Amino acid sequence: MKIEKIKEDKNRFVFVLKDSNDVTANTLRRAMMSEVPVMAIDEVNFHKNDSALFDEMLALRLGLVPLITDLKSYKLKEECTCKGEGCPKCELMLILKAKGPITVYAKDIQSNDPKIKAVYPDLPIVKLDENQELEFEAKAVLGKGKEHSKYSPGLIYFKAYSIIETKGNVSNIKNLCPKDVLEVKGNKVIIKDLLKCDLCEVCAENNNNIFVKPSEKNFVFAIETWGQLQPKQILIESLNIMEKKLENLAKEIKKIK
Ligand SMILES: [Zn+2]
Repeated sequence: MKIEKIKEDKNRFVFVLKDSNDVTANTLRRAMMSEVPVMAIDEVNFHKNDSALFDEMLALRLGLVPLITDLKSYKLKEECTCKGEGCPKCELMLILKAKGPITVYAKDIQSNDPKIKAVYPDLPIVKLDENQELEFEAKAVLGKGKEHSKYSPGLIYFKAYSIIETKGNVSNIKNLCPKDVLEVKGNKVIIKDLLKCDLCEVCAENNNNIFVKPSEKNFVFAIETWGQLQPKQILIESLNIMEKKLENLAKEIKKIK
């Protein structure tokens, strides 16, 4: 298997997974979406809430605030030395005190750990009117996307690599693509944006010299992070998790006599 980078920035990593198969590609996607842990608010104690939103609604909004995650300093509660009781290695306290008139933003939540803060500081939480107050203590923990979508590290998807074969005159191919992803260089057809090509085959339907098919061993992947982790970190963590799972399975198999 090989990985060929196509595009990378702060929020997105696009690559081609080569010499693989759809089962492996989907396992990788599922591991990234549902096994890589990220931090999110899980418990809120309201001391004062005069806002227009009920405690439950505010708690739900707070749970969905993406928090920058540090996987080196924090452990999943069930894997922590405290055995799930809660300690500074697996829990982070956050507090907020605000008095209206004001709009409360994610950046107003004070964290006990300066590294762990809201990814989007200007995310509005609630508006407070004159003399309305909001005070709460919240607990953030690491969790996995398979437990709750608030722990999902991002949107990860893949599609089959488009194979385009041509013969004869293909000079009009550029105009045949409804998404304008094709480019002709000499006698060769190049796909400008692999993710945009939906294998719709409109080009092949309108020109007998073009043949389009999905690759069975190469896949175009996109990792779009919500910001808690860097996109490449999501991929690396998912591989570590899969490796650990396979090691555990190998140990179990060895026990069978
Ligand atoms: Zn702990």
